[in-house]
Amino acid sequence: MDSGGFFCNNKECRKSISGRAWATVCSHVFCHSCGSKTLDKIPTSCPACDTLLKKQFEALNLDLDPSDEFKSMIVAGLRPETILEIAQRGMSFWTYQKYQDLLFNEATIQALTENNEILEKHYQDLIEKRERDLNGLKSQLENRVQDIERLQKRVSELTEILAEKARQHQKLQTMEPFESDLLENGSAISFVVFMSYSLFLVSYYLCAYVRFLSTSFFVFIWRF
Ligand SMILES: [Zn+2]
Ligand SMILES: [Zn+2]
Repeated sequence: MDSGGFFCNNKECRKSISGRAWATVCSHVFCHSCGSKTLDKIPTSCPACDTLLKKQFEALNLDLDPSDEFKSMIVAGLRPETILEIAQRGMSFWTYQKYQDLLFNEATIQALTENNEILEKHYQDLIEKRERDLNGLKSQLENRVQDIERLQKRVSELTEILAEKARQHQKLQTMEPFESDLLENGSAISFVVFMSYSLFLVSYYLCAYVRFLSTSFFVFIWRF
């Protein structure tokens, strides 16, 4: 059953309290488990604020959902002003607890907000780093594409050169055997040089012989 909205004042616990609980004169309340560890013996100190608790009723184990008989008898016989004072102190306890809950929730929200801001900055930095890495990879990819395009162009040029060589080779294959042999063996140039040199020698000796004959003829004429 609902305890009235109290939460254990142990910061490590903070569970909703129902059934039996511990309350202190310093207006703190604890679940049965947390309170039983320190408040079942007097003297002791409040786990929330360290107030010294040394008298009876300064720390009480209460039923937050009391029976009708308890409600009927707890203030029975008391004067109205005493009953009102008891009720007023009970309301002050409840108001203080609600105020503590409000402060705790505000602190929790503040902590979550700060943590959210840290996480937001962390992921923003992460996104920016990933974007920088992505831009770097895009740049590398563009360079690789340009390299591939240059290689494709070079391959195309070499393919054309190879095709031209193949055409020349095919043309040589279809030439006359003699011409082909001469050109293929590199003898064509040697043949031309040999023939030119032979013609030169023949012409040289022929001119010399003609000059010898002419000289002999004029000498012969001159003597006569
Ligand atoms: Zn607790
Ligand atoms: Zn306390």
